[in-house]
Amino acid sequence: MDNWFTIDQIDKGTYIISEYRHWEETHCYLLNGSERSLIIDTGLGICNIHHEVMGLTDKPVTAIATHIHWDHVGGHEYFPDFYAHGDELNWLSGEFPLTREQIKGMVVDRCDLPEGYDVNRYEFFQGKPTKVLKDNDIIDIGDRFVQVVHTPGHSPGHMCFWEEERGNLFTGDLVYKDTLFAYFPSTDPGAYLNSLERVSALPVKHVYPAHHTLDIQPEILGRMRDAFRQLKAEGKLHHGSGTFDYGDWAVWL
Ligand SMILES: [Zn+2]
Ligand SMILES: [Zn+2]
Repeated sequence: MDNWFTIDQIDKGTYIISEYRHWEETHCYLLNGSERSLIIDTGLGICNIHHEVMGLTDKPVTAIATHIHWDHVGGHEYFPDFYAHGDELNWLSGEFPLTREQIKGMVVDRCDLPEGYDVNRYEFFQGKPTKVLKDNDIIDIGDRFVQVVHTPGHSPGHMCFWEEERGNLFTGDLVYKDTLFAYFPSTDPGAYLNSLERVSALPVKHVYPAHHTLDIQPEILGRMRDAFRQLKAEGKLHHGSGTFDYGDWAVWL
């Protein structure tokens, strides 16, 4: 399992922990402050991300997921101090809309699994957060401040995390290149547009998505917003209207 995770450094005290052997190409982000560290998303939960984090910080670590989907809370079991948005607490206490079997299917789908890995031991993380987050909360990790931007659409309690001082926007599943998912019953295409309006108005210098290529520039925020505006104007911004391809990204409604 030595090469399961790929670690890259973004800037001083900020690291990307990626899982490229699964088709989703998940990225988690570790932010080291002077008092503590923050891990944004904990990945697929196939291998132990805690080992990697311990090699990058000696501070106490708090986990914050951009949203409560299996591929973002997979390593939460290792981080008892974790925060979640109030609108997804029920997904952490037995009301997640997919079954355990469906989730296991997604774990093994198009994945170069580690040798000897037993998917039957896979559990969808459940637990009670140490803090419930809401829009505009500021998380202070010591000399670094991370703002919660509630961005529903992909999921009801989805959050982007905004570090104004560095211009870093961690966009989770709201913004990445490849196909955005807005077709599940728990997604909301109209809210998705409102969230894109919001993040595209921020003075973002760097976009850090939860999936796929890291070759992504802030200009994509405005392009996605404009495409969603156009879909709305054409009466297509609703579930079941199809998949729309814009070259370097697409959206499945
Ligand atoms: Zn998701
Ligand atoms: Zn995801």
